[in-house]
Amino acid sequence: MPQGHIARKRFGQNFLVDREIIARIIASIAAQPSDHVVEIGPGLGALTAPLLAACGHLHVVEIDRDLIARLHQTYSPAQITVHEGDALKFDFGSLPAPLRVVGNLPYNISTPLLFHLADFAERVRDMTFMLQKEVVERMVAAPGDEAYGRLSVMLQYRFAMASLFDVPGDAFRPAPKVTSAIVYMRPLPVESLQCRDTALMGRIVTAAFGQRRKTLRNTLAAWLVAEDYTLLGIDAGQRGERLSVEDYVRIVNHVIGRQR
Ligand code: SAM
Repeated sequence: MPQGHIARKRFGQNFLVDREIIARIIASIAAQPSDHVVEIGPGLGALTAPLLAACGHLHVVEIDRDLIARLHQTYSPAQITVHEGDALKFDFGSLPAPLRVVGNLPYNISTPLLFHLADFAERVRDMTFMLQKEVVERMVAAPGDEAYGRLSVMLQYRFAMASLFDVPGDAFRPAPKVTSAIVYMRPLPVESLQCRDTALMGRIVTAAFGQRRKTLRNTLAAWLVAEDYTLLGIDAGQRGERLSVEDYVRIVNHVIGRQR
């Protein structure tokens, strides 16, 4: 284990050790001295040190007390501002904007963390993360793809996203069994967001993908009847995986319009 730290599984600790991969991630982030950067889960500092060299100051959010103690020993307060605690509960709105969010994320909390971060999208310039490749595939999947689901729709509604490159398990200590990938996320302009109730969108999308083999007629029966499908120009006999993000937005706005 690097530098004598025993990796804690419950905190999803897999530390990056491959210098070439670290350099590629840092090059993709291309941090500048004027940037406001926050790193989630700095760990033993594989990304922290080169990020600091690029931008001079960093905010970091870390949950592991041993690692926090090491961060304080290694870096001065002028270099990093350490926020101790759970990134899932952290108020990213308290940091200066526009914020650049980066991290080799703990895989066990990656999906809830992405949804938590989506709440701060208006203050975010961009986000670059290492995640399980399988999760990145779901994030960027298109309608009809096997990986297309709730995560694709809810994140594509809010962000433009691209999978940058894969990272093999042997780039980490301990090595995870799965392949990872780097994903780049940029919030879409607020003007482009047309959905009138994102909480309702979340419920409708969850229902549409909850029973993947069932058709919309069944999965969305709580919100839509035959006449609604005619008005929307959407075939009730298809499955949720065929609908685009725009289709889901139209459904939500139709349901809300009908209630008024
Ligand atoms: N950035 C380091 C690297 O690339 O080697 C460590 C990455 S490791 C996959 C995940 C890091 O996130 C660990 O340092 C872990 O302690 C931290 N972490 C885990 N759960 C967290 C949480 N809920 N909030 C903040 N940090 C967390």
